[in-house]
Amino acid sequence: SIAAPGQGAALLAELGPWQRALRAQFPIITANPELAYLDSAATGQKPQAVLDAVQEQLTAAHANAGRGSYPWANASTALVADVRDRVKGFLGDPDPARSAVHFTSGTTEGLRLVARDWLPGLLADGDEIVVPFADHEANLEPWLEAQRLLERQGVRIAVRELPYQSSSGDYDPAALARLVGPRTRFVAATHVHHVYGGNMNVHLVRRAVGPDVPICLDAAQSVGHLPVSVAELDVDFVAFSGHKALALPGSGALWARQSRGPELRPGGWQGSPNTTGIASLAAALDWLAAAGTDRIARWTVALAARLSDGLRRLDAYDVLGCQRSLAADSPVQQRCGIVTFRHRDIGARDLGFILFSHGFMVRTDGHCQAGAGETSSVRISLHVYNTPEEIDRLLAVLASLR
Ligand code: PLP
Repeated sequence: SIAAPGQGAALLAELGPWQRALRAQFPIITANPELAYLDSAATGQKPQAVLDAVQEQLTAAHANAGRGSYPWANASTALVADVRDRVKGFLGDPDPARSAVHFTSGTTEGLRLVARDWLPGLLADGDEIVVPFADHEANLEPWLEAQRLLERQGVRIAVRELPYQSSSGDYDPAALARLVGPRTRFVAATHVHHVYGGNMNVHLVRRAVGPDVPICLDAAQSVGHLPVSVAELDVDFVAFSGHKALALPGSGALWARQSRGPELRPGGWQGSPNTTGIASLAAALDWLAAAGTDRIARWTVALAARLSDGLRRLDAYDVLGCQRSLAADSPVQQRCGIVTFRHRDIGARDLGFILFSHGFMVRTDGHCQAGAGETSSVRISLHVYNTPEEIDRLLAVLASLR
């Protein structure tokens, strides 16, 4: 629903001046005009506002948070509390008094917190959980670890696969409804698939499981790329990576609604918070909100559609994912800024080397996908700093590889 097919060129022209002003704010991008960074699903580049916030945090009032009582320490403690509220605001939290934000090093740690410190308290012998088997391994391994941990305590949990519909690339509500029973206690879902680029309809999951089953959402590929509203999604946990949302590496957050199921109380010894990462996250979220996540989504979706349309006109390539099921001549319904493809004769790693010799930085191989997973594909993932010219140059190089 973000961009209607065929409107891509007009949309890119309309948003061009807005995009050029934003692109100019990324020093690493403007310093390297001969390179094209096409790996933003792995991590995002940082705008000047984020670099400034880091500099300020380290040079104006840098101290540990939650400890001392002198002014710099107080400022750091206040920063952490303030950014918690800003994360809630960014995620459209309708009831911030009844939610919690835990700062993490990224999506993986957020999902592990839920699996380690919250899920075991919810589960009893014979209960069932539903989790994705073919998404990022960060959204499978923690649930399997929880299962193993409980098993050692004599509590047996069944882990069921969250079903996809191959025709739509979305969740399969009928199969899910058949799977859900009175012992279903928890569902883990993914907002945007990091390989196939499906922007998943999370409502289908909520409708199938009913109002009482907690849903945990891996939002690694959606926060910072498109509007994410916890009110609208009706989920209980949202884990995301700050570094993919233009903040520093080692930053991230887990948002947790406290009203359905037990409270999340991260156990164990809590170390010093990553105050610099947290400051960078606040700056990144402010920057994204000012830029407009809806416009960022329209821009990256239009670029991705331009790429997947172009690839489908080239015989040598297969585009993976939800597009695969569409008829060859139907317009591609690109729903996020990720396009993954294979060349029929050239292996993905070789293709990656060839593309870098032309200045394109892309992801190759397995993409950390769980299960059978992808083993040999090239992923292009876009952010607001990418341009139609980069896509056209990339398509020209790909067309020349026979
Ligand atoms: N989930 C998805 C869908 C991802 O794409 C990624 C990163 O690629 C992760 C989880 C893990 O994120 P992080 O490495 O920041 O913990």
